Parts: sequence; structure tokens; C-alpha cells
Amino acid sequence: MNEIKLDIREISLGQLKDFFIEKSHKSFRAAQVWEWIWKHRVLNFDKMTNLSLKHIQCLKKHYTIKKINILEFHISSDGTVKFLFELESKKVVEGVLIPQRNRLTACISSQAGCSLACTFCATGQIKLHRNLNPGEIYDQVFFINQYAVKHFKKPLTNIVYMGMGEPFLNYKNVLKSIHYITSSFGMAMSYKRITVSTVGITKIIKKIADEGVKFNLAISLHSASNTLRSKLMDINKTNDLDSLLNSLIYFYDKTRIKPTYEYVLLSGVNDSEQDAKLLVKFCKKNPCKVNLIEYNKVANSIYEKSTNLATIKFIKLLEKNNILVKFRRSRGADVNAACGQLANKIN
Ligand code: SAH
Repeated sequence: MNEIKLDIREISLGQLKDFFIEKSHKSFRAAQVWEWIWKHRVLNFDKMTNLSLKHIQCLKKHYTIKKINILEFHISSDGTVKFLFELESKKVVEGVLIPQRNRLTACISSQAGCSLACTFCATGQIKLHRNLNPGEIYDQVFFINQYAVKHFKKPLTNIVYMGMGEPFLNYKNVLKSIHYITSSFGMAMSYKRITVSTVGITKIIKKIADEGVKFNLAISLHSASNTLRSKLMDINKTNDLDSLLNSLIYFYDKTRIKPTYEYVLLSGVNDSEQDAKLLVKFCKKNPCKVNLIEYNKVANSIYEKSTNLATIKFIKLLEKNNILVKFRRSRGADVNAACGQLANKIN
């Protein structure tokens, strides 16, 4: 019977060293393989030119390498580049390159589809297909970086886990991908340049605080009222604002990292003076920053973006109360760059 081969990008360097020792090879071979698969993204054992045929045959016998490919990309009139990546199963996930002033930010996916169905989000309409493995998450960063170097003549400056899926429902693979993005074996990027965005799975927020993670944390808040937040986001029914706050206080205590609250302004839904006051009250309870996000209209959505007047009033009220707030305009609308929009048309 054929043995099931493991994806080599799912094991650790230590495990690969043990494998080589067990097969009576030198353990330093593992580091050579590691540079090929992470730093150079050479995913064909035959092309690892510093390995001998017997090492290559041994690797081929026991391991496979799952990867993604670029299916297509679209350039928006505002410079945003939307990538569609194809998994081996032919399912599609998306990534975006956002050039902004001196920054080049990659927005990447952690799952194919999503199980959470937040009412305003397009990905929520696509059922969860599966978690991406560390290599598939890393590949998106690798490809977008390659594009950045080729077309903008410089590497990525920032990475945000804000594409499809909920990173904390796939947190082990997300953490592994961050390990390689930051490792000298991989892209050697700084943790400070990485942001993971979550709906707020409180158990995982505490867990990563215990692990002493160093990347930035963004929380999709969207309302500081439990009643409204539960209507917008199902997750609030099991992870409500009190438990969220509790986990964020714990996170800040352990890491000293101020979380960013993301708040998509939806006209007549969460953008009133009362909503802003509730947000101020919530913000005062733990150090934080706020990103107000312009809503990007999703097909068949019941929501509209807030008017300019409502947006300005909302920002002013936060500023008057000394909340650190930034307003993020929607980018890449003409190439469907809002969360999940393009893949929605294909999957
Ligand atoms: N599941 C994670 C990451 C993916 S969504 C999370 O919820 O944080 C990344 C961000 O985009 C979230 O803040 C999400 O609420 C927001 N978003 C989703 N749909 C949007 C839309 N149509 N317009 C603007 N922002 C949207």
C-alpha cells in the first residue's frame, strides 16, 4: 500500500533534521532544503541543486509539496492589484497588493471561504472550503512580494491577514506562516510589519498573548453594542464585548501591543452619534487605536456606506475624546477588492 506523503511545508525544521538522521543522512541537509522551499520557493525537489540524487529520491519518497499558483490578477485604477490564487483543488483564494504613499501592503487570505458569515462581508457568502496550510499562506506573500519587486522596484513593507477567512480559526497555520515570513530562512520581515485581523476569538487572543506574539492585532469591532454587533457578526453571540475586552486587556498586559479596532461605517446602522459615544466608552477601557473603514458595497448587500457628513461627525467625536483614529477609504473597488468580492464570482 502507498504511504500517505506529508506536505514538507507542514513539518518543522527540527522534524526534517530528525528525518535525515533517521535515514542516515547528515542533519544539515534539512537547512539546505529549508532555504530552497522558503527563501527561494523552489518547490521541486529535482531543482535543489546542492542535494545529491539519493537525498532527492529520499525526499520524494516521503514528502509532497502543496502549493498555490497565480490564476489571474487585476490592476485597479487606484493602483491596487488584486490577485486570484488557485489551490490544487482548483478552489480560489484572493490576495491584494495595496500601494499607498511609501508603503506596499499585501493583504492575504488564511482560509478558502469562511465559516463566520458576517452580514456585510462578501466572503461570508462563500462556505468554508478548508484552512490554508502554512505554505499556501506563505505563497501569497511570496508572489505578491515578487510582483512588488518587479513593478515597484521594492519589496513589501507590510502584510495584513485581512483577506478571506478567519485567521484565528486557523491560528496554528497562520502562526507558522508568520514564522517563515519573519525567519531568516524565509523573508526575514519584521513582526512589526505584520497585522492579523480577527473577529475576536477570545480564547485564541489569550493563547497568543501567552505565547508572547509580536505582530499587531486588529479586531473587527464594527459596533460597541452587543445587540447590534450580534446582528452584524454571529461570533458576538459566543464571544461578546465583555469577553472580548477581557481578552484584550489580557493581551495588552502580556504583550504591550495596542490592538486596532476596525469599524466599517454602515449608513444608518452603526454610524450615529450614540454609536460613536459607545465606541469611545469601549475604547477608554483598554489602550487601542481605531481604523474607521469605508464600506465597500457587496453585491446584494442591504448596506450602504455612510455619508460624508456622518463620517466626519463620527471621526470628530472620536478625536474630541482623544481616541487615536484613522479613516481608511475603500481601495480597488473597480476590481472588486473588498473582502471576498472577486473570488465570489469564481468559486
Ligand atoms: N475574519 C477577519 C479577517 C478578514 S476581514 C476579520 O473579520 O477581521 C478583514 C476586514 O475587512 C474586517 O475588518 C472586515 O470586517 C472588513 N470587511 C469585510 N467586508 C467588508 C466590506 N464590504 N467593506 C469594507 N470592509 C469590509
